[in-house]
Order: sequence, then structure tokens, then C-alpha cells
Amino acid sequence: MVEASLRNYDQSARAALRMKLFALLGRLTALPVLCVPLALMGCQNPGVRDATATPPHSVRFLLTFDDGPSLRKPFNPTIAILEQLAHNDVQPQIKAVFFVQTRSASAGGTPLGQEILRSIHDEGHVIALHSGSARGHKNHRFLSPVELDQSLSDGTADIRAISGYDPSLVRPPYWSFDVHTQAAYRAHGLDMLLTDVSARDGKIWGWHISLRRRIHFRAKLAEVRRGIEEDRLPIVQGVVPIVITFHDTNDFTARHMQEYLQILVEESRRVGLPLAAKPFYDDGDTIERVASLRAGIGVYAAER
Ligand SMILES: [Zn+2]
Repeated sequence: MVEASLRNYDQSARAALRMKLFALLGRLTALPVLCVPLALMGCQNPGVRDATATPPHSVRFLLTFDDGPSLRKPFNPTIAILEQLAHNDVQPQIKAVFFVQTRSASAGGTPLGQEILRSIHDEGHVIALHSGSARGHKNHRFLSPVELDQSLSDGTADIRAISGYDPSLVRPPYWSFDVHTQAAYRAHGLDMLLTDVSARDGKIWGWHISLRRRIHFRAKLAEVRRGIEEDRLPIVQGVVPIVITFHDTNDFTARHMQEYLQILVEESRRVGLPLAAKPFYDDGDTIERVASLRAGIGVYAAER
């Protein structure tokens, strides 16, 4: 297991982690050969672990939200999520990263959007960049280099105007990136953070309800456990930070945030993932450093 600290996670440790990953990928090529006889012996529910297996390190959830702020009224999903993160039965005063659209007419580019962005900051959450373009949620790979550069400059300036400092994190719209967009992020001092677990709540149809959300989280958290057992995820300050992604523009997510918090805790226990004493990060500075560390390593639990 690779041990990382916030101060001294240096290049050599990152290189060692990558070497382990490559070795792991080499071993994984043998897996299909093993899977056939195992399948013939009978399938186990992959979401429920053998209780005798060695438990991995404790995990801690780093919550992230994309696409906001929402402008919906009178029920505002972003505000509802802020309220539930602050006041809930699972762990009060949870903090998160909000990957925002600073200039979109359907998000931060309006007086209400600006007011909500200030609320996110005032409540101690981390504001990070999703889009700095007035054209909104555009795929960075399809922007011209000049437009992408302008979007990153504008978004950074917009967030600085609210928080007093430049954002350190970016998440590309549609999770779409390439070497050119990554070079642009680096040029603007932005670390690209992807995710370990997505709630898959980004698509907003007329009907938002995911009846399978608990089963979905169970499967994804089992994937997290495998990632820890395979040494793919770093330990930071004694715990394994797990990045979780929601969309604060989704009103179903917003109406059920507390339930999602409970599902994360309950399903972690179910798949044999020990939780830290405080299962959710609750300090903006720590969140920003941990997120930047995970972004720098660039390895996630999701088995893509
Ligand atoms: Zn998005």
C-alpha cells in the first residue's frame, strides 16, 4: 500500500504508484482466463464481500458537485444541497467541492447565480472550475485553443473574485479531455480531478428518479474496495479519500441528499469498507489539498 502525506507525496512516490499500476494491469490480462472457471463454480454477489477477508484501510468521502449553481426557484437544488450538507443526521457540516459554471446564463452568469456562488464559498466549501465560458457547458476538446484559454482565464478570475484566491481544481465538462486540454489546465495552474464513484445523476430527464441508486452505489463501492486491495488508491493522513460525484443541478439529488449520505455509509459497511470516524471531509483547506493530490496521481477506483 502506498502511503502518502499531504506534504511529502513526491515525484518518486507517484512514479512508484504508477509502476504498481502497470504491474497490476499486466496481472489483469490473466483475469479473463481465471473468470471462466470461477463462473462455472457458481457466482457470488460481487457487491457483498467475504467477511473473513482482510479489511482495507478506512475510507473518507470527498463529495463533489458538478454543473451548478442551479437557478431553479422556488426550490433551489444547490441551496437545498448546501442546507443538507450542513444539517443532516449522518454528519453535520460536511464540506464539498463545487465544480461550477461561472458565466453560463443558466448558472453563475446571473445575479442569483453569483449570490449562490458566494453562499457556497461563505459556507466553507471549495469552488472549482467546470466552465468559465458564457456559452456554458461546452466540451473543452471542441473549443479552439484561444477559446479554451479564455474560458480558463475568465473562470479563474470569476472564482478569485468570490473566494479571494485562484481555483486549484478543474473538472472537464462531459469528462472529456485530451493532451491539449490537460496542457491548458496545467498552464492555468489547474489540477484535473475525475472521480471514483459517480451517482450518474447528470442526465436530467422529465423523470429523475433512479430506483437503482442503492444497488449502483453498492457496486461502485465494491469497486472502490477492489481498488484499495489492489493498491491503486493512495492513503492520505491514514485514510483512503474516495471522490464521489453528484450534480447539484439535479433536483432529485437535491431532495434526497441526506438519503444519499446514508446510502454511502450503509453500503460501505455492506461491502466491507471501514469508514473513518468522520466519514465525510469537513474542512475546505484539507479537501483542496487532498483533491489536488488525487488529481496529481490521476488514478481512480473506477474500472474503466
Ligand atoms: Zn458537467
